[in-house]
This record gives sequence, C-alpha cells and structure tokens, in this order.
Amino acid sequence: MPSANALHSPAHDRLRYFEQRQGQIVETIRQLVEVESPSDDKPSLARIAAFLSEKFEALGGKTQIHRSAGFGDNLQVSFDSPDSSRKPVLLLGHYDTVYPLGTLAAMPCKIENGKLRGPGVLDMKSGIALILRAIEALKAWHEKLPRPITVFLVSDEEIGSYSSRPITEALAKKSAGVLVLEPAAGHAAVKTARKGVGEYTLRVQGIASHAGLDPGKGHSAIVELARQIAVLAKFNNLRQGVSVNPGVLSGGTRTNVVAAEASVGIDVRIRSAKQAAGIDRRLRSLKPFDKRCKIEVSGKINRLPMERTAGVAALYAKARGIASQIGWKLGEAAVGGGSDGNFTAGLGIPTLDGMGGVGDGAHAIHEFIEIAELPRRALLLAGMIESV
Ligand SMILES: [Zn+2]
Repeated sequence: MPSANALHSPAHDRLRYFEQRQGQIVETIRQLVEVESPSDDKPSLARIAAFLSEKFEALGGKTQIHRSAGFGDNLQVSFDSPDSSRKPVLLLGHYDTVYPLGTLAAMPCKIENGKLRGPGVLDMKSGIALILRAIEALKAWHEKLPRPITVFLVSDEEIGSYSSRPITEALAKKSAGVLVLEPAAGHAAVKTARKGVGEYTLRVQGIASHAGLDPGKGHSAIVELARQIAVLAKFNNLRQGVSVNPGVLSGGTRTNVVAAEASVGIDVRIRSAKQAAGIDRRLRSLKPFDKRCKIEVSGKINRLPMERTAGVAALYAKARGIASQIGWKLGEAAVGGGSDGNFTAGLGIPTLDGMGGVGDGAHAIHEFIEIAELPRRALLLAGMIESV
C-alpha cells in the first residue's frame, strides 16, 4: 500500500489502484463471458471451470473440482493465510448462465457507451472477475493474504443449486461470513434481504367423459383446477411480501372430452421462514370442490428467505464504512429474487449479497454492466475480505 498523505487517504489510493486496472478487469470479464456456460451443458461448464482453475491457481489458490453426476461440476478454491487464527471468508458465486450455447453470436460481448454487454456479464461473470482481481490486489498490498479465503463457484445456481447446495452449506458453516457476488441491486446497493422461493405443482385428476354424449358423467379436472387457482389467488399478500403465481398451466386432451387431468406449476415467494411454513401448509391442505376429483400438491420451498438478521446488518455496516472512506453512500436493498445467499443466511451465517457488478438486464438480451462502477466494487470486495 502506498502511504497516506494529506490529500489521499489509503482508501483513495486503493480506488486509484483499481481505476488504473479497470481495463484489465474488463478484459477478465470479457474472457469469462466468451466462454459460454449454460447450466445444462456439462462440457461447457467443465471448460469454464478449467479456465477459472487456471486463473485461481496462478494467484496461488488450491483448486478442487466437486464432480456431480446430473449437473455441471462445482469449483472450490482455497487460499491460505499465515493468520490461521481467522476463519475464512466465503466468496460465493456461480458460473452457469441462463443462455443457450450460441447466444454469444447474436449477443456479442462488446463495449458501448461505457457499458459492457454480453450473456451473463451481469449475472454473474463480472462478479467472478471481481473475486479474481480483489484477491490479486490483496496479494499486491499485503505480503501475504491477511486471512484465509474460500471461493466457491457453482454450476447450477440458475436451475436450483441442487448439486452444489450441500457443499455451499458445509463451506458456509466453516466461514466467518459469506459475500455473494451476485449483481448489485438498483443504485449499486448491496442486498441485505432476499425473498424465499418455492416451486410447487398442483395436479388434478378428474373423470373423463364424452362432452356431447355424457357430459354429466365427467368430472372435469380443468374446472376443478380453475376453482383451485381462484383459491391460490387469495394466498397472495403482497404487503406482507407473500406472492403465489400460477405460472404454467396444462390439461385436457380435446375440446370434446371432459378433461381427466390438469395441472399448474406455481412459484411462491415469501419474506420470512414463518411465512414459508404457513404457505406450504395452506398448499398441502387444499381440498377438492368436486369430491370426485383428486388433487395432489408436490414441491417445496427450495430457498428460505435471506432475512436481515443482526449478522447481516453488521456486514452491511462494515461495507458502508468501507464505502464511506471514498465518499460513497452505499445503499442496501431487499429483493424478490433468490440466490445461494439464501442458503447460507438460512443457516444463520452472516451473508451480504449483491456484491457483484452494477448493471441491468440479467437473463435478457440487453444485459450489461456499467464499466465505471467496477473500481469501487473491487475496492469494496477487497476491504470486506479483509474485515469480515
Ligand atoms: Zn445469478
């Protein structure tokens, strides 16, 4: 670290360090975006995991690939520190994206008016690049890393994190805190609360009959399902943060058949663990209006909410303190989307999310990050790694 003087605080020196390397950060992000990595393409995920392993090993990290049968592999990197009295900080992210292979051709990675565009640039390849660059900086500033660091990058976050979740949770339990490199919220804020997410399917089994010859003999699964959906609508309590969305509907075979089967896929969001239990119970106790129809509810709350616990608030206070040293008022936000931060926060491990890139259009054709935001994001991450 260059020493402070009257005009430049150490924090400003750090900001300048990253400003001078802004082009290199952008270059790292571009390299990552240009290795496409959809959640369902194992060879692509293996390619980006290998690419990242090399980068982390060059920084002195020990890499470990966690193989997974049905999904892509997950990458763990450990950095030792002479200060082994400190628990590691866990830097959490994902390298899968929602875009199918070949998207890059129609949505190339390019700079336009201070924005870097491309598939996954915001969610969350810029976050991974920030991890690499922040660790590199800490190594440059300190002779040795000031504390142990664990990086865990998963390959299945966009499809529910089923293979990576147990590892994420085990690593979190060994850590002093978790920093999640998902995109920032609006106004570059970090995320101190996330809703929990559940996915359910409601299936109705009715009795088929000929719609013309025997309409009275049938018990329509579709009519029953429609009545159930009207009940579901009443479970919404937006003011309390509970939403229930019947998002995918199917049923019936032909217009002249009273439908024997119908089903609806439902997305559930909740703000607290208590609401999670409540909505789960209400869904499971649905009863058919037509006694000849059977209903069956499957699914569960997959991600419990990330609640703004005292531990989360303390991490945010730390982050705000680091930001204030360069005159930046770092905001916080509660958001509706879930992330792997929900798992770690759900275990009671202090978690701060939204530490990654600043931009818009995640999962959409116009996805981008603001390049000028990168230096202070890197500064914030480096400072948090030191002080969590
Ligand atoms: Zn993400």
